[in-house]
Amino acid sequence: MRQLRGFLNSTWVDGQPSRTKLYNPSTGEAVAEVLEPSSSDLVAGLELARTKGGPELRQMTYAQRAEILTGMAEVNAAHAQELDELAMVNGGKTKAGAQFDVGGGTYTLQHYAELGRGIGDAKYRTDGRWLQLSSRHLQFIGQHVWVPVSGVAIGINADNFPAWSLAQKVARSILAGVSFLCKPATATALVAHRMVELWVEAGILPDGVLQLFMGDFSSHLGNLQEDDVIAFTGSAETGGRIAYHTRRIGYRFSAETDSSNAAALGPDVQDGSPTWQLFIDHAVFATTFLTGQMCTSLRRLLVPREKTQAVVDALVAELSKVVVGNPADPSVTIGPLTTADRLREVQRGLRLLRQEGRVVYEGQGSRSPVGGTPSGNFFWPTVVLVNEGIEALMSQHLEVFGPVIQITAVDPKPSVVSEVSARGGGSLVGAVYSDDVPWVTAVAQGLMGHTGRVYVANSRVDRKAPNPATVLPHLVHGGPGRAGGGEELGGLRGLEAFQRRVALEGDEWLVNAVIGTPRTREAVAAS
Ligand code: NAP
Repeated sequence: MRQLRGFLNSTWVDGQPSRTKLYNPSTGEAVAEVLEPSSSDLVAGLELARTKGGPELRQMTYAQRAEILTGMAEVNAAHAQELDELAMVNGGKTKAGAQFDVGGGTYTLQHYAELGRGIGDAKYRTDGRWLQLSSRHLQFIGQHVWVPVSGVAIGINADNFPAWSLAQKVARSILAGVSFLCKPATATALVAHRMVELWVEAGILPDGVLQLFMGDFSSHLGNLQEDDVIAFTGSAETGGRIAYHTRRIGYRFSAETDSSNAAALGPDVQDGSPTWQLFIDHAVFATTFLTGQMCTSLRRLLVPREKTQAVVDALVAELSKVVVGNPADPSVTIGPLTTADRLREVQRGLRLLRQEGRVVYEGQGSRSPVGGTPSGNFFWPTVVLVNEGIEALMSQHLEVFGPVIQITAVDPKPSVVSEVSARGGGSLVGAVYSDDVPWVTAVAQGLMGHTGRVYVANSRVDRKAPNPATVLPHLVHGGPGRAGGGEELGGLRGLEAFQRRVALEGDEWLVNAVIGTPRTREAVAAS
């Protein structure tokens, strides 16, 4: 069986076999095991990052750091097929799902390389305009500057996007000037491990700039220092445990966690209209793509009561075409859940949802999966439930991370829709579908209070445009409350998680010399 080692202190290190094996979730067959590095190997790796990788990155300009990202993107693109196949075998993704993860990661690396090239030969980014601080001494100025943190960034990732999550975190960290340690979710670590292996083989990374820890990190949090950063993606429960250490040791921590995302359908939207069709398309995507295991999947459809049955009918018509099975078979459109634990969690979540809602559809495919073994696999059918809006408190809050969608019958008054949506406790994305501009405006303004991203769609939005589940590097990703309160991506804003804002004040010549952009008095005045 394949053995996956960590890469620490410029070495592929041996370690103890982890308790968690990596499986093909379509067949239940073990495909790899992880060798967990020792604490002393991790400490040596962190030391290399602090004394060599970080300082070397900090000496580089943004354009030079962008060069590294370009190299990483090129390596990914050249090995896309191999990486896709690993994502299919170890994550149960369909080919389209694997491409979304791997290709999305490559695109994000390219995006950040382009942003870095745009900044060019500067080592520092300024924040806002320089300020004149004294009316008597005109040359005395102030300027805010972003500087990299002096520690290490640790990217802890969830099991659903091993490639994209690694790529988006490492891209932002390297461009920010901070060395990076990747800790993939063990169950689906094959893709992330191979990506790091390919980058190391390509020789594009200075020593200590990128390292890899495999396995259980929980007993190692005490090795971090105040100037380190953890960028975490995973469940709110795990995030809470790490946050406890954060408070004790004082390092920075950003969290991207659970979300019960809602989409609202306007009372004006007619059955079969383009806006209706878009809403149904997006609901089907949310239920089926990556077997419903996206943090941004729509979980709740808030529908005017009289339209509930028509939405059920339209959804069921589409979901009954779904082919459940092993994604190795090209006819399969929905694969298994990622792990046995996830399967148990989905079953448990459904038992809870049934207490408040009624199941109106349950697909059959999981009992006879195409190309999958009849037992020992992690297949689960698509499920649609209907519940009664405002009374279904637990249903509005619970995130069932699988192919399950709920239709909530609501009074479509904007205040009611916003209130039901807010019962999610803070979400990553909320969506609104209507051609009635005042209604969209009122609902979207309500959603903005408790949602990280608000998607507004009418009949002018093309079906090929990004849907609410798509996370683009241009826009911030994150949400308040139980979604973690973190903020990733958003173009250059995404570097701020790994940087600090410093205020510089003094003589304008000196201030500009420190930033590395000496300018004439006229240029300063004109800026
Ligand atoms: P998880 O069980 O919370 O694990 C996430 C990561 O944390 C894994 O790498 C895991 O490592 C690690 N971990 C677990 N306990 C730890 C500890 N005590 N200290 C340090 N690290 C620890 O989550 P998951 O099941 O992989 O992912 C599903 C969840 O992630 C869902 O709730 C989903 O909503 C959320 N998610 C959120 C986003 C977002 O952007 N907001 C994106 C994707 C997923 P091991 O694998 O080795 O245990």
